[in-house]
Amino acid sequence: MSFRAGLMSNFKDFLSPGHSLGERFRALRRSIGHIRPSQYDVARTCNLSCEGCLFFLGSDYEAHGEKDAEAFDQFFAKEAARGVTYGQFGGAEPALRQDVLRAAARHLPRGVVFSNGTIRLDPALPYAIHISVWGLGEQGAKLRGADVFTKALRNYRDDPRATFIFTLNSGNLESAPEFVRICADAGVRVSFSHFSPTLEYGRRLVETQAARNDYFRFSSTSDNLMLDGDGLTRAQELITAALDAHPETVVYSHAFNRWIHRPEGVYEVDPDTGMPSNCGSRVTAHYRHFHTDMSDAGDAKCCTPNIDCRNCRLYAQSLSSALHRMREFTGSADDFSDWLDIWEHWRRLFLVERPAERRTESLDPAPQFVREPDAALVPA
Ligand code: SF4
Ligand code: SF4
Repeated sequence: MSFRAGLMSNFKDFLSPGHSLGERFRALRRSIGHIRPSQYDVARTCNLSCEGCLFFLGSDYEAHGEKDAEAFDQFFAKEAARGVTYGQFGGAEPALRQDVLRAAARHLPRGVVFSNGTIRLDPALPYAIHISVWGLGEQGAKLRGADVFTKALRNYRDDPRATFIFTLNSGNLESAPEFVRICADAGVRVSFSHFSPTLEYGRRLVETQAARNDYFRFSSTSDNLMLDGDGLTRAQELITAALDAHPETVVYSHAFNRWIHRPEGVYEVDPDTGMPSNCGSRVTAHYRHFHTDMSDAGDAKCCTPNIDCRNCRLYAQSLSSALHRMREFTGSADDFSDWLDIWEHWRRLFLVERPAERRTESLDPAPQFVREPDAALVPA
């Protein structure tokens, strides 16, 4: 039997009636329902100035203005008609364009807003809210231009849509346990991302006379946010400890923690083009990236094209890649269980729990995950 046929055989076995993994798989599919995502930058301004900002330290945002909410209403109606059911709303800071988010909510039933948490989002918005945290106290102020964690916590401590995402970097690793403890005490959920430099950040680091601006204030070869091998090892240890100490607070999975920190790296990147061959977050004919003026980003590689693929460990994109690469998880029952754990991790992060009666009504007869994992392996 070929290797591929062996994987296929395992997969069919796991899904056979009565197999506990198959039951888990089907329950997850039912609870996730039909997800067809696309990504929208909705605001081209921000009230912070983060060192190495993935939006402003690169050119993807340039030459795109904004439109009024009425135009967005028509735009999102067309997106819904195109089949999009899940919006990913980014920035700069989407809370500065809540009119756009309200227009989206009239047409796209589910989604996620990536916010810095300083401005409270309309309680009526039905979307998950991911609030970025870069550090505590002075450290946060150094990295973002202001210490905003306390304010964000005040804004969202009673909001079931919110998860605080701590972006691990070379300077803030040892603050992670305190961050988790504060959030656990406040009753808010947390997760983790890894600082992922833009190409421009990497370029400026090695320039002797690098141009300085609001998003590249102090970084240098000796003082920067990049995680090296030791930093990644420490990040994995800290996430493991946080998960074990606060399983209700920390939305993460041990399986993804191993996957994102694998020593061989996350992506196979073509050295000539800098493009990854195995990233599950690339734009496709259906999964599109839109600028703030609603123009389609065309052949942009993904929704964060400023980022250097060689060092990309952005949490949302990496989760999508792990799930997309189902083949890596069909070698054994333990592997497949890991893949389902990562799906559960994704579900808790990206879906706002809906009342049971609505969830039952909205079950799709042929539900799809956020990206088809690997159509070739899924039995008809
Ligand atoms: S919050 Fe920070 S990283 Fe996000 S858009 Fe604003 S400046 Fe950039
Ligand atoms: S999401 Fe994929 S394509 Fe985009 S920067 Fe990361 S690795 Fe590259």
